[in-house]
Amino acid sequence: MFLKGTIKDTGIDITIKNNPDHILAPNDWNMVYKVKFNKISVIEYRYWYLNLIKDRWEHRKSEFIELARTGLDKDVKLKCFCANTSDRCHAHFASEFMNILVNKINKV
Ligand SMILES: [Zn+2]
Repeated sequence: MFLKGTIKDTGIDITIKNNPDHILAPNDWNMVYKVKFNKISVIEYRYWYLNLIKDRWEHRKSEFIELARTGLDKDVKLKCFCANTSDRCHAHFASEFMNILVNKINKV
C-alpha cells in the first residue's frame, strides 16, 4: 500500500523541490503555490494533478508498474512537506492512484 508521508519519514520524496523528475512529482510550481495559498480548490488541484499522472502513465508506464510492485507487500510512504492532515497535498492523490495500480497488479 502507498500512504502519504511527511518529509521526516522513511520513504520516497515526491516533491517538485527535491525530486522533480519523479513520476509522482508535480511539474508546475505555479499550481503548487495556487493550491497552497487557496487560489484554487482542492478539486481543481486534484483534477490537474491526476491529468498530469495520466499523461505520464502513457509515456512512463514501466516506471509506474515498477513502483507499484514495491507497494505489493509493504507500506511505502510518499513524502511531501505538507502535514498528513492537509487535504491540499498531491501525495494523497498519488497514493490513491498507486493503490489502484497495486490492486490491479495483485489480480493479474
Ligand atoms: Zn504536499
